[in-house]
Amino acid sequence: MAYQTINPFNNKLIKEYPTHNSQHIEQALETAHQLYKSDWAQGDIKPRLQVLRKLSEIMSSRVEELAEIVSVEMGKLIEQSRSEVKLCAEIAKYYADNAEAFLKPVPYPSKLGEAWVENSPIGVIMAVEPWNFPFYQLMRVLAPNLAAGNSVITKHASIVPHCAETFEKLVSDAGAPKGAYTNLFISTEQVANIIADDRIQGVALTGSEKAGAIVASQAANKLKKSTLELGGNDIFAVLDDADIDRAAKIGAMARINNAGQVCTAAKRFIIHEKVADEFLKKLTAHFKALKMGDPLDKQTTLGPLSSAEAQKTLGKQVENAVKKGAKLHLGGKAVSNNPGNFFEPTILTHITRDNPAYFEEFFGPVAQIYVVKDDQELVKLANDSHYGLGGALFTKDMQRARKLATQIETGMVYVNSLTNTAPELPFGGVKRSGFGRELSDLGIKEFVNQKLVVLAASS
Ligand code: NAP
Repeated sequence: MAYQTINPFNNKLIKEYPTHNSQHIEQALETAHQLYKSDWAQGDIKPRLQVLRKLSEIMSSRVEELAEIVSVEMGKLIEQSRSEVKLCAEIAKYYADNAEAFLKPVPYPSKLGEAWVENSPIGVIMAVEPWNFPFYQLMRVLAPNLAAGNSVITKHASIVPHCAETFEKLVSDAGAPKGAYTNLFISTEQVANIIADDRIQGVALTGSEKAGAIVASQAANKLKKSTLELGGNDIFAVLDDADIDRAAKIGAMARINNAGQVCTAAKRFIIHEKVADEFLKKLTAHFKALKMGDPLDKQTTLGPLSSAEAQKTLGKQVENAVKKGAKLHLGGKAVSNNPGNFFEPTILTHITRDNPAYFEEFFGPVAQIYVVKDDQELVKLANDSHYGLGGALFTKDMQRARKLATQIETGMVYVNSLTNTAPELPFGGVKRSGFGRELSDLGIKEFVNQKLVVLAASS
């Protein structure tokens, strides 16, 4: 796979990046491994936290420039790119402020002696990351692992090499020693070889179900721990007592953010029958009001998809859904006569369980509408999914919301908000959405040795 920056707004090739050879990979692995063995990783945490603090400051001071790199490379609206860069700065600061407390030894009162659990680093982590949040995905892995003392080697998505290279430079500019974070432009075969190497102790992948299954099995084959942050088919449920204006406005945002290319985007709208017509009318109005254009133009509210390939895949999915009986309420096609990868805001209704669309993740501005008669039917439909990442519920009745939130089989449920993310909140899913958590205190514990030490009496 060639590493290329192609602007999705006009499909112009901006730059091609040479790939790394096996000698370069060997050097990267050895440098990362030696760093893990050194005082940097095994000693005082404070110098590592200082790097995170500096990284946060650098990103905060360069929001505009970094945001533009994201928007030009993968088509995200400039304001959303700015938010992504700011969120990265917050994550780095969050771990700089909290990692020491998260990793401090925990006493375990025991009759066998004085006992505690230490959180030690485990070595070099191989990270495989996607393009849809090209800085945030890298920061979710880098910040907790750098704090813990693990070295990180990354294979980023081949369509965002500029972001990949820039992030590596940011970490280095923040004062991280060589080997703390290394970006590699490599093939999937080379990733498999790295995972098999004894110096790799953990594997973190964010991406599709297909890539997750391959990479996790490569890790399992060598008895290495992995975390998987995979796709989702999140619900956006609107109950009969909800504020429909608000739900429709946030629902449109939850589906359209990042041109619909978000793992936790609202993909299945499940609407109570009493408010279904009103909700659909209002959601449709929001979709119709979207303005496609250059992601760098602040008037634009819907940018292009990340690649021509993504546009083609989505078009085929919608076409197939309609062939199998779904009704096209709005949109449905790639925008023709445009050099960019634009896709019409689309709404599908009447999707039955035997339609492949019922179980598929649509990675673009395509909303599926389902109508239910009560909460029981809502839960049944919500849980009838291979995925289990996030989900949102809109209601004024908090008792009802708590009960439903408990019944929904996902890693995250938000009430009266779209599914969101923050450094202090655990992020991750169940079922085919993956396993393990990133961010928060849970994320930093994924790749540490929770080592028990027991001091028994000496005589
Ligand atoms: P993808 O095709 O799986 O790519 C993700 C990364 O995996 C890329 O770096 C890709 O490299 C690499 N890759 C693909 N096949 C591989 C293999 N056999 N061995 C090693 N690496 C491999 O996913 P995508 O289409 O870019 O991203 C969208 C998916 O990610 C969606 O399903 C979305 O829901 C999910 N996602 C999940 C989360 C979460 O936190 N749960 C967050 C964001 C996105 P190349 O680019 O070179 O192919």
